[in-house]
This record gives sequence, C-alpha cells and structure tokens, in this order.
Amino acid sequence: MSRFLTGKWSQIKAYVPGEQPKEPGLLKLNTNESPFGPGPHVLERLGEVVDFQRYPDPGGHRAVRALADYHSLEPNQILLGNGSDELLAFAFVVYGENLVFPQITYGFYPVTAAAFGQKFREIPLDENLAVDPEDYYRAGATVVLANPNAPTGLALSRDQIQRILEKNPHNMVIIDEAYVDFGAQSLVPLIDEYDNLLVIQTFSKSRGLAGLRIGAALAQREIIEDLRKIKDSFNPYSVSKEALVAVEASLEDSDYFKRTIREVVDTRDWFSEKMRALGYQVLDSQANFVFVKGGKAYWNHLRKEGILVRYFEKRPIEEYVRITIGTREEMKRVLKVTEERHA
Ligand SMILES: *Cc1c(COP(=O)(O)O)cnc(C)c1O
Repeated sequence: MSRFLTGKWSQIKAYVPGEQPKEPGLLKLNTNESPFGPGPHVLERLGEVVDFQRYPDPGGHRAVRALADYHSLEPNQILLGNGSDELLAFAFVVYGENLVFPQITYGFYPVTAAAFGQKFREIPLDENLAVDPEDYYRAGATVVLANPNAPTGLALSRDQIQRILEKNPHNMVIIDEAYVDFGAQSLVPLIDEYDNLLVIQTFSKSRGLAGLRIGAALAQREIIEDLRKIKDSFNPYSVSKEALVAVEASLEDSDYFKRTIREVVDTRDWFSEKMRALGYQVLDSQANFVFVKGGKAYWNHLRKEGILVRYFEKRPIEEYVRITIGTREEMKRVLKVTEERHA
C-alpha cells in the first residue's frame, strides 16, 4: 500500500475472485463458467468484427433491441454493462445507501458495498442454507438477492420474490439472475408490474461468454435512466464492439443455447444423484454448480488430483465445497477421484 492511500480505501478488502490457473491438465471447476463456450455461430460473427479503430455504439442499440425482443421488453428497459458486476456496482452506488442481503451469498456484494462506503446488513440463511423470504419483508433498505443464490444453488420461486416486492413498495429490490437460465423462475416477466424491481443478468454463465464481459440490467425505464446516468459518467464505452456483436449472435443461435443448457442441467442432476449415492449431502441446485458437503479435506483431495473447485472458509458453509458442472466426461473424472478417496 502506498502512503497516498488514505481514508476508507486503506481499509478496503478487495473481492477475491476464483483462481484462473494456467497449470496444464488442471480441471477447472471453480468459477462457474460454461464448459461449452459460446458456440460456432458466435465465434463466426466475432471474426467479422474488424473496425476496431472506431468506438463501439455507446447505446449498443442493435444488441439492446435483440435482447429486448428476446425478453418482450422495450429497449429503454435495458442497459448493457461490462459484466453484471459493473451493473451491480452502479446499482449499489445509486440505490445502495442502505443495503440488505443474505450473510451467505455472492461475495462481491459486501465488498462492493464497503468500497462505495454504503451501509449493509447481512441476514443469516435458515438452517437448510435457504433464504427465508420473510426476512426481507419491510426491509427498510435496498434488498439484494441472487436467485438462484450462490454458492448454494438454491432458488426462491417467482411468487416468493413477488411477495418480497409487495412488502417493500418503498425499497428497491435487486434480483441477480446470474444463474436463472439453469432452471429457476425469472422475474423479468414482472418488470412492467413492479417499479421497485431491478433484474441483473449476465452472459458469463449460461451463454459461455465470461471472457467478453457482458451483463444486462432489466427494469422499468426510469430505473434504467438512473443507471445509464452513472454508467455514462463513468465509462460510456464499457461494452466493447465484440461484446455487442456477441449479444446479438448468441441470441440468434437459440438452438445452441438451449442444447448446452439442457446438457449442463442433465449432467448436474446426474452428478448430484451419483454423489448422493456415494453418501455425500448435495443441496438441490438450480444453477450450473452444486454445493456438496465435504469441506477443506475434500477440496484438498480434489486439488491434489488436479481438480480445482471452490472452498469458502466461512461459517456456516465451511463444511461445503462448490463444484461447477463441467462436461459429462469431466464430471465422471470428479466422481472417479471422489470414489478413490473412499477406496
Ligand atoms: C458470476 C456472477 C456474477 C458476475 O457475472 P459477470 O457478468 O461475469 O460480472 C454476478 N452475480 C453472481 C451471483 C455470479 O455468480
């Protein structure tokens, strides 16, 4: 730390993302990326992007129009960002003077809130590691929920979140749907009904585009205007030309999108059953990862065998590891290595 860093910034602990190691042969199941990538159509369209001397369209109009059509929204109900993390950060700045979120959730929330000097309250999960919706009624603060939640993979139903929205007419409710495509119910169809709802989605997980950094904020027009104001004050060109083309191309190839999601979901359910058969407790995931009781010892065992998964040294989840769902072959390797642990 330099001697020029003062005040709150000298106290801030940065978010620690999952490792991106370069070790050959390592099976990387620690950051919930897609094992399939974006698909041939997207790669082909990306290859056509050549005019890099020009700035991208700051409004991303074509990409936004395509995404609006996909969700049956108006283009002015969508803002694209450099990953959903950027949009979450903007939302925390403009609506986050007081925040409330689960004590176990996406680790970016408390870190970002602290970085911007915002106050936040963390609510414990229930005894099954689930979010109890009633804990968020009359919150008196901006509610932030990942649905499905990370790292548990457990989801609330649309009805349960609707209840939270109705019990918070004067508070913003931010729903982070990073994993929603893997089986949970999206709140996007209710955007016209609730002026306190802000949905954040990403192209990093289900659309296999983590490396291009694409997120979307979806809400009523006034909220999108608020967010655009801060985005344009910060970096109007934060979404690259390639990212904008990838949004369009990914939405064009819906067959590939559906096929890869079905593959991940089938593999997840198959892997969960196999793990349970081996005696492991596995939470009922609706995401592209599973939360398995095994703890640091299991994490170490997998790591020694060249499989990288995520471990959180935090109560009450210190007995769990989070395993991203890879291809069927990759998950067979995880099972084999797991079985050997007990041989
Ligand atoms: C991965 C993840 C994000 C971040 O997505 P980016 O669009 O890559 O920034 C946001 N929220 C949750 C809960 C995530 O797991």
